[in-house]
Amino acid sequence: MGIYFDNAGTTAAKPEVLEAILPYLAQQYGNASSIHAVGREARKAVEKARTQVAAAIGAKPEEIYFTAGGTEGDNWAVKGAAFAHNQKGRHIITSAIEHHAVLHSCQWLQKQGFEITYLPVDAQGRVSPNHVEKAIRPDTILITLMMANNEIGTIQPIAEIGAIARVHKVLFHTDAVQAVGAVPIDVNALQVDALSLSGHKFYGVKGVGALYIRQGVRIDSLLHGGAQERGRRAGTENLPAIVGLGAAIELATRDIESHVARLTKMRDRLIHGILTAIPHTRLNGHPTRRLPGNVNVSVDYIEGEALLLRLDLAGFQASSGSACTSGSLDPSHVLLAIGLSHEAAHGSLRLSLGDYNTEQDVDELLAVLPAIVQSLRDMSPFSVTS
Ligand code: PLP
Repeated sequence: MGIYFDNAGTTAAKPEVLEAILPYLAQQYGNASSIHAVGREARKAVEKARTQVAAAIGAKPEEIYFTAGGTEGDNWAVKGAAFAHNQKGRHIITSAIEHHAVLHSCQWLQKQGFEITYLPVDAQGRVSPNHVEKAIRPDTILITLMMANNEIGTIQPIAEIGAIARVHKVLFHTDAVQAVGAVPIDVNALQVDALSLSGHKFYGVKGVGALYIRQGVRIDSLLHGGAQERGRRAGTENLPAIVGLGAAIELATRDIESHVARLTKMRDRLIHGILTAIPHTRLNGHPTRRLPGNVNVSVDYIEGEALLLRLDLAGFQASSGSACTSGSLDPSHVLLAIGLSHEAAHGSLRLSLGDYNTEQDVDELLAVLPAIVQSLRDMSPFSVTS
């Protein structure tokens, strides 16, 4: 299958996760709302997973609501907060580099009469807490800022912004889809009111996630129907996926400090290797306040898509932006927001490391990447052959 450097896109479910899930597909297949024995077993499994998710982020089990992934969690938090608080005001603060699950939710709300402030970021992708504070108005009802960016890996000063939000009594949501399982998280230290996470980013399965909603915080429901999730999110619980989410988050957070240390070392060696071996390359994002597994570089005088295809042929899977936008020829909104030109944004390469990557993977990539880049530059009419 080659060497996989696209762990920010998705990850492989771990054997322990599969083992946890399997019985719930065919033997213990109950509906968690049924009151008979099979249903009660299912309910027990869902509640165990809720406890596992809560423990991983410092929350209480009753503050965890299962969703169908990060996109649903973001839509729910943003739209649900907007509609729950529109008596107080209609102003929302976000940033220019959010995932489309947040940005497009905000754009949809604009059409419903809400007003959105899209904060800029600095050249390394950081939102300034000062800018956040200045943007708060009497009618501000929500601040939604991602904890870590999916493309450039920059980690935001969420705890500082959380403190500001609390002082001004504005609800604060963070999209932590890339951060959960990658860095330690405690919802109380961060002072967030809502946090979305997604199972397939930390070796669970796709199509399941959770939204943390702090006790007492009002967020309207998006899905109406049955009384599941304490009446806040209708739909029969996705039992096997939820069980897998619980197992995956427990595994991912158990030894998180050593995961962080291992990946950070590998990441920094990869960045250094690329920047020293290939001329006209630059790191995108913050040099240290970035996800342990994230490498994003601009490679001048090439097309990112062409580089991806050549890497794929050589057996390496990477990405040139977020997986969700590949297929579109628009340059990444994140790279444009940190000040890259359209050309530079088109020539970006994201390599995201995960638990299954080894130092040898890094060596193998560094052994072929300079020659691949050079051969693409040799074909490019814009090239200044190094
Ligand atoms: N938010 C961020 C930061 C992401 O990286 C992603 C997925 O890449 C999502 C939200 C959407 O999550 P999901 O794929 O679970 O819908």
